[in-house]
Amino acid sequence: QVIDNTYFINVLEDFKLSTQHGDLKVINNIYEPEVLLRIDKFQFTTAITNILENAVKYGVEKTVITVSSSIVNGEYLIEIRDNGVGISERNQKLIFEKFYRVSEGNVHDVKGLGLGLYYTYQIIKAHNGSIKIESELNKGTTFIIKIPVK
Ligand code: ATP
Ligand code: MG
Repeated sequence: QVIDNTYFINVLEDFKLSTQHGDLKVINNIYEPEVLLRIDKFQFTTAITNILENAVKYGVEKTVITVSSSIVNGEYLIEIRDNGVGISERNQKLIFEKFYRVSEGNVHDVKGLGLGLYYTYQIIKAHNGSIKIESELNKGTTFIIKIPVK
């Protein structure tokens, strides 16, 4: 399947509509509507939604999610930033592993299987893309995804 940036915006809108968090804002800074990606729609949606769900799950009282997309060096660049609890440097290396969950801090009260980011990572990798994180404890987390444009 081939998707464009409009599809990405729809994924964000769907998430916004389905989420119950009134204090959640998805801010779009999208300015490349013609971007084309060769990617399975369901897999793409799963990869993005897993990250957005985490931003809510591991958020703070007033969680703001900022999402942007652009084209950099022939790649589709998606950045998903939250101002939640953040991830320690040690855990940043581990969260894409199967079943890995952070056990310290107040995060262990939140339920999950530790599979969401594992799947996200596998999906992005299968499309020759890359995913990395920048995070600081008690400040927030940014997921940076790059996928080659068709
Ligand atoms: P699942 O997604 O399978 O329901 P999960 O959310 O625990 O369970 P992942 O989505 O793979 O699993 O995330 C792994 C761990 O990374 C989480 O348990 C959480 O501790 C940490 N994490 C993920 N996203 C964030 C985030 N935005 N802010 C802070 N911590 C995060
Ligand atoms: Mg998750």
